[in-house]
Amino acid sequence: MTNNSFDVIVIGAGAAGLFAAAQAGQKGLSVLLLEQNKKVGRKIFISGGGRCNFTNRNVTSENFVSQNIHFMKSALSRYTSQDFIALVEQHGIGFNEKKLGQLFCEERSQGIINMLLDECSKGNVQLLCDQKVKTVTVDSSGIFTVSSTGNSKLEFSSSNLVVATGGLSIPKFGSNGFGYNIAKQFGHTIEELDPALVGVKVTSEFLPTCVALSGVSVDCIAQSGGRKFRENILFTHKGLSGPAILQASLHWHKQETIELDLLPEMKISELMKKGRNESPKTHWSNFLKSYFPDRLVEEYFEKYLGLPLDKKVAEVSKSSERILEEAVHRMKVVPTSTEGYVKAEVTRGGVNVNEVSSKTFESKKQRGLFFIGEVLDVTGWLGGYNFQWAWSSAFVCAESIFQKVNGSE
Ligand SMILES: Cc1cc2nc3c(=O)[nH]c(=O)nc-3n(C[C@H](O)[C@H](O)[C@H](O)COP(=O)(O)OP(=O)(O)OC[C@H]3O[C@@H](n4cnc5c(N)ncnc54)[C@H](O)[C@@H]3O)c2cc1C
Repeated sequence: MTNNSFDVIVIGAGAAGLFAAAQAGQKGLSVLLLEQNKKVGRKIFISGGGRCNFTNRNVTSENFVSQNIHFMKSALSRYTSQDFIALVEQHGIGFNEKKLGQLFCEERSQGIINMLLDECSKGNVQLLCDQKVKTVTVDSSGIFTVSSTGNSKLEFSSSNLVVATGGLSIPKFGSNGFGYNIAKQFGHTIEELDPALVGVKVTSEFLPTCVALSGVSVDCIAQSGGRKFRENILFTHKGLSGPAILQASLHWHKQETIELDLLPEMKISELMKKGRNESPKTHWSNFLKSYFPDRLVEEYFEKYLGLPLDKKVAEVSKSSERILEEAVHRMKVVPTSTEGYVKAEVTRGGVNVNEVSSKTFESKKQRGLFFIGEVLDVTGWLGGYNFQWAWSSAFVCAESIFQKVNGSE
């Protein structure tokens, strides 16, 4: 066993941990970064479909879900998306805006990982991969002892410990909620944890329709928990997915309804009126196919809802039209569950933010203990917000540890 002492120990070399370690190191602090996997930043690698949606041009606290929506404001204003964009540009990483302010790498996400590793090197960060932290203890003088195992069993100490262990999503990367256990050990409350930014499963009654429609994508407005998102939904073999559903899942709770408007730009009643006047002899089926994907018309409107689509537009009854209108503008889906942590991009919930300082990220329960990134009860929308939260919280945390170590806090 070795015994090494550092100004800061960071647990977890994901987005938040890598950035916090780099920032603290570049301020002259001695930093140890411990990662359980053989490689750092595994979620960064797979993020954004391999192109890492590393931030969003427009980030405010409104883009997050938390028990305290004000908690994020300070950090997001002290380290903004513009600050991170400047760093990305400085490293010569090409990027483009896809939609809604979302910035993606032009090439592979590995560029962002390399950039973070480069920043860590500049700060002389000691990075140890394949080291899973098993226990954390603190003595009466506030010195933490961190024990880890991997290719060897090691022990380190510091008076500043940063927990950047992320949440529960993608368990194959080792996400097992270790950070929540540390938080609980030091008396913190964990806000209810749920998979979020994830597809949903539907009832056995509606599932065959989704399976038949698998691969069909529809532009819509999805409404959940009082929030509306205009994006695509995608029918899958398990139910529904696509960006609109992922966004809705962040605001959805068990037994609640997700409401979909499948024709956001138009009113089906007005189109029907126009159809009756201009093309009364057109088959209803063909008429609807000019506004919706063919398979949606056949599998959902005709087979699932039982609408008589063989009729001509002029022959459609008022009651059939009402059923169609309800289905088009207020399609109600009550998911049976989400697709779970195996598929979820993030974990909603986490360490209660009222027990952590929004100015320093230090625990209000244990001096020298810090929480950053996804382990906190701060969950961003789809679109680069979660990475921006990792960068902002990491930056502010590193700065506050620097001030603490130098006695200027
Ligand atoms: C498929 C997918 C796509 C995504 N795409 C995007 C996107 O494009 N844009 C966006 O903003 N967000 C995206 N996200 C979300 C984003 O990846 C996370 O919000 C972000 O990675 C959280 O960073 P973090 O550092 O807090 O946690 P993580 O990235 O989860 O890092 C935590 C690290 O801690 C390590 N660790 C945990 N326990 C221990 C232990 N006991 N000892 C040592 N190490 C430990 C883990 O191995 C991990 O490396 C995506 C997520 C997924 C799953």
